[in-house]
Amino acid sequence: MSALDSDEQMVFETSEDCQVFPTFDSMELKEDLLRGVYAYGFERPSAVQARAIVPIMKGRDVIVQSQSGTGKTCVFCLGALQTIAMTERDPQVLILSPTRELAEQSQKVALALGDYMNVQVHCCVGGKAVGNDIRALEAGVHIVSGTPGRVFHMINERHFTTRRIKMLILDEADEMLNRGFKEQVYDIYRYLPPSTQVILVSATMPHEVLEMTRKFMNNPFRVLVKRDELTLEGIKQFFVAVEREEWKFDTLTDLYDTLTITQAVIFCNTKAKVDWLAQKMREANFTVSSMHGDMPQKEREQIMSQFRSGSNRVLIATDVWGRGLDVQQVSLVINYDLPNNRELYIHRIGRSGRYGRKGVAINFVKNDDIRILRDIEQYYSTQIDEMPMNVADLI
Ligand code: ADP
Repeated sequence: MSALDSDEQMVFETSEDCQVFPTFDSMELKEDLLRGVYAYGFERPSAVQARAIVPIMKGRDVIVQSQSGTGKTCVFCLGALQTIAMTERDPQVLILSPTRELAEQSQKVALALGDYMNVQVHCCVGGKAVGNDIRALEAGVHIVSGTPGRVFHMINERHFTTRRIKMLILDEADEMLNRGFKEQVYDIYRYLPPSTQVILVSATMPHEVLEMTRKFMNNPFRVLVKRDELTLEGIKQFFVAVEREEWKFDTLTDLYDTLTITQAVIFCNTKAKVDWLAQKMREANFTVSSMHGDMPQKEREQIMSQFRSGSNRVLIATDVWGRGLDVQQVSLVINYDLPNNRELYIHRIGRSGRYGRKGVAINFVKNDDIRILRDIEQYYSTQIDEMPMNVADLI
C-alpha cells in the first residue's frame, strides 16, 4: 500500500472528535519542523497522519492502528519532535521497538524530519557497546529510540534519566505488549513520570492488548485505518460462452442496448485491444469512449469526467481504470477478456462494502477460459452462471 492512498480507499474508525488536517501547514507544527517535513519530500499527510498527529501534539494518549506503510512512523516522529524542548538535556521522548532495526529506523526518520531543529536522537539497542550509550546520554539527547532490554539497563544503571520524559511511544505495540516484552515494558514504565503521555502504534491490535491499554492509557484517542475491502456480494455474475475470439464482438453488439440502460465498462487486457475494439464499435455506429494507460493523464481525466457526468455511457478500458476511480456508480461490467489474475477480477467488478451497490458482471469466455472462471468462482466462493436471456431485467 502506498502512504498516499487516498481517503476514498480507506475505512476509518476513529474517536468521535476526530478532525482531519488535510495539509501539514494546517497542523501548526513548529516552523523548523515543518521545513524538515517538506525538505524530506512530503507534500501531503497520509490518512493516518492527517488524523493522528494533532491529537498527539495536544497531549492526548493516542492509539494508531493501520497497516505497515501507511505513515505511522512519521506520525509518532512528528509528534515526538513537536513535543520536545530544545533547551532540555535529559531525554524527553522514549520510543520502544521490538527489534534493533526498527529502533534504528525510527531514529533515522526522527533525525531526518528534525534536521532543521538540530535534534539529538540516540539509538539505544543491544549488541552495541554500552559505552556509546553512556556517552551519548551524558552528552544530552532529546529523544531515545531503543529496544526494551538495553533501555532498561541504562535506566537501571542511572545513565538514562527519566524524570523529564513526557512521552512514551510503543512501536509495534502488539508485540511490545505480548508475553515476551510485556514485563520489560512495565519495568521501564514504572520509572517514567506519572504524567507521561503514551502513544501506541501498531498494524494489529488484538483484543487482549487493547484491554491491557486501559491500565496505562488515559482515555486514549483512537485512529484506526484499514484498507477498504472489495466484495462480490450483491453482484450478479454471468458468463457467455463464445467458442472463438471473433464471436465476442457480435455478442457485445447484441448486448449494446443492455449496456446503455445505465452505464457500462468493458474491460480488455491490453491497450491495443482497447483501441481496436473502440474503433470497431465506432465503425459499426455505436457510441463508446475508451481509455488506457498510454493516454496522457489529462486526456484520461477528461474521459473519466465525461463518463462520470453520464454523457458517455459505455467505456472501454484496460485495468488502469480498475481501482481507485469511481466504479461505484457503474452497474454493469463486461470482461471482454477475462482478467489474468484473481485480484484483477475483484478490482474490476467488486464493490466496497461501504457502498454495497448492486451490479451485474458478464464474462466472455472462450473454451479454455472456463477453467480460469471456475478457479475464480471457487477462490471467491461465489457463483457465476450462464447469462440468462432476460439479463437486461436484472440491471
Ligand atoms: P509505517 O510506519 O506505517 O510502516 P512509514 O511512516 O514508515 O509507515 O511510511 C512508509 C513510507 O511512506 C516511508 O517510505 C515514508 O517515507 C513514506 N511516507 C510517509 N508519509 C508520507 C507522506 N506524507 N508523503 C510521502 N511519503 C510518505
